[in-house]
Amino acid sequence: MNDKLKALREELKYDKTDSCVQCGYCLPACPTYATMGKETHSPRGRINLVKMVGEGKITDLSVLEEPMDLCLGCRACETVCPTGVEYGSILEAARAAITRRKTYSAPVRILRHTLFKRVFPSRQAMNLIGNAKWFYEKSGVQKLARKSGVIAKLPSHLGDFEVIAPPAVSPLERSRLPRFTAARGAKKYTVAFFTGCVMDAMFRRINHLSVKLLAAAGCDVVVIDNQTCCGALHAHSGELDESKRLAKRNIAAFEQVEADFIVNNAGGCGALLVEYGHLLADEPEWKERAKRFAEKSKDISQVLVWCGGVSVAKHSAERVTYQRSCHMTNVQKVNKEPLQLIRSIPNVEFVEMKEAEMCCGSAGIYNIVNFDASMDILDRKMEYVNDTLAATIITTNPGCLLQMKLGVEREQKSGQVRVLHLVEFLAEAAGIE
Ligand code: SF4
Ligand code: SF4
Repeated sequence: MNDKLKALREELKYDKTDSCVQCGYCLPACPTYATMGKETHSPRGRINLVKMVGEGKITDLSVLEEPMDLCLGCRACETVCPTGVEYGSILEAARAAITRRKTYSAPVRILRHTLFKRVFPSRQAMNLIGNAKWFYEKSGVQKLARKSGVIAKLPSHLGDFEVIAPPAVSPLERSRLPRFTAARGAKKYTVAFFTGCVMDAMFRRINHLSVKLLAAAGCDVVVIDNQTCCGALHAHSGELDESKRLAKRNIAAFEQVEADFIVNNAGGCGALLVEYGHLLADEPEWKERAKRFAEKSKDISQVLVWCGGVSVAKHSAERVTYQRSCHMTNVQKVNKEPLQLIRSIPNVEFVEMKEAEMCCGSAGIYNIVNFDASMDILDRKMEYVNDTLAATIITTNPGCLLQMKLGVEREQKSGQVRVLHLVEFLAEAAGIE
């Protein structure tokens, strides 16, 4: 084997493909195989393509591009694989290898650079976006834009997302996320709250409610200023080096707080936070620090359960269903806690949907860049949601939340079915505003 191929194998984490025995048990679990029906768009097919590149049978890496782009990264395949193939690592390495070799047009290059390096990692930039959205809503521009039909004409289906985006909080309220909130009653834990980038800019209300819920459950909650984006969007888009840089910034920032747990409320972010150890495993200086950070990282549902749950003020009768976040279920392995919390609320009838563990098609920015493929997955999901006759769909991730709202909108049921983050649902039951 020549040195070039050896280096490529290392870059692609080729050795990890060895444990795939081609059994195909992963095929029924894969949403893109279910909707596209192509072997190259299944986990086994994608692994095979990487194998062939590593063995020099495919020399043009662009052959990997479409199959890898159309993978949701939901990692449902890992959960059913009998030989424990680390598909997530294979996918991450393949995407990074493709991105390193790809020549983007100047506008795309500038857009990627701006978003990944200047916007997502910057709290100021994300706050500015949140405030601009608030101004857009309150100034009447939104009303005008919708009425004039401009929104419907936006490219890449952005108009669909404009309609479902949650209302922004005011700049005054935005500035009010307290740096420290004391536990109500006897203190059980001290937690450092991970605000996230998109969560903080677009879903600030849910962050506010999260802090209040944690405090009501008995946690001292610390929110530190110098935290940054988790890096998940970067890792999923082949920007692995930038993702590692953000991980290091977060590790160093959270080391300054004496906390029992680092708590997040977004399944996608949490999945990368618990994998910081793996992300920085090859960097001796960071390896142990990353592992410690990952061990402390928990989803809010876990901490609320350990605190004894939520004190309910009152709750009227309601039928609900739960759309799992793939990353929370398949990577963080957090599955029972959200259900435990939902079921603890009196008068709530929980109905599980068919194929509950299947991805909704959101997957970070997948629904924006692969809109049609994503809508095929969503439409299948909505069939099963409709069968439950639930009036409320509960989710635990911002992407899933928007995607399910889009599903409800496509079904023209926005007046009958609401979509809530678990935190919103629990806060409502606890009488927290
Ligand atoms: S990834 Fe796992 S389940 Fe899928 S074909 Fe390979 S060994 Fe079988
Ligand atoms: S991560 Fe999800 S979409 Fe991608 S191959 Fe695995 S099951 Fe299929």
